[in-house]
Amino acid sequence: MLETVDFYREILDNLYDGIFFVDKEGCITYWNKGATSLTGYNFADVKGRNYCDIFQPLDKNGKQLCENDTCPIRRVFDISDLTEVEAYICHKEGHLLPISIRIAPVRQVSQQFVVAVEIHSSSSPRYAMRQRLEELQELAMHDPLTGIANRRFVEINLSARLEELKRYGFDFSVLFIDADNFKLINDTHGHTTGDRILKMISATIANSLRSFDIIGRWGGEEFVVLLINTKKDHLFKLADRLRRLVEKSALTLESGEILKVTVSIGATEALPGDSVDVLVERADKLMFESKRRGRNLVSAEFRQDDEQ
Ligand code: GH3
Ligand code: MG
Ligand code: MG
Repeated sequence: MLETVDFYREILDNLYDGIFFVDKEGCITYWNKGATSLTGYNFADVKGRNYCDIFQPLDKNGKQLCENDTCPIRRVFDISDLTEVEAYICHKEGHLLPISIRIAPVRQVSQQFVVAVEIHSSSSPRYAMRQRLEELQELAMHDPLTGIANRRFVEINLSARLEELKRYGFDFSVLFIDADNFKLINDTHGHTTGDRILKMISATIANSLRSFDIIGRWGGEEFVVLLINTKKDHLFKLADRLRRLVEKSALTLESGEILKVTVSIGATEALPGDSVDVLVERADKLMFESKRRGRNLVSAEFRQDDEQ
């Protein structure tokens, strides 16, 4: 019997997907290596702890999934049927991770029910993004700290997109994103923690974009995003969704302290007469407008003839 258990455990441990079991109280009783590589947490970090407390799963709009009896795992215990959901969970490094969750009820040898939870991210934009980042690394156009594209790559892309806009009318928009009061984070917690926060911000944003959008680190705590073919009435909503997701990201320090950060965003459509400098400067000015209005805000601007 023991041999059989070890056999299945070895299979589960060697799967690429994350698998874990929770008991009727929602506490984690088994955790495979795939779950560790996806979430950053070891079994020792999560053993016996409640799944919802650790991951605080959110739906795609940033709304808590486990509030007011809406926890999908709880639901599987109630209905005893397979459930699948798309969600964001909080990685150990604080950034939000888009995953597919598949939850199945399982009857143990002791006749008690547990549920098996399978999480994987291969169907998410992150997967496509990761493949593209590997290509970027080869081209030495990625930022070594955050792993996203660097300023040079963004500038080259902006230039190419502006050319397309002029010739073919393909629309795109630009977001200028600046971390709020970032100097205070460095001063209070040190530069290394500041670096982890920069990684958290960039990972949350990169994980939330479509695979063909581009995010790059423009400078210190500033990021630029190119949103391809974005309808003007969606621009504010898209930017505000990113702002909200960063606001919900949280880095837990070794001391147990939880660090959060906000960003101010400027959002503007590219115009056929723009140069790269003029376009980025306009987005930067709008970002400053968000700072001026109190930070953790989006300021968006559209063409005069579009405004209504
Ligand atoms: P505001 O809300 O007005 O943007 O305030 P702020 O403190 O974010 O702005 P400020 O420009 O005064 O500070 C930016 C800080 O970002 C100062 C600099 O030390 C820090 N910084 C820049 N690059 C890095 C980096 O690579 N790592 C870390 N940890 N800090 C960085
Ligand atoms: Mg700045
Ligand atoms: Mg700043």
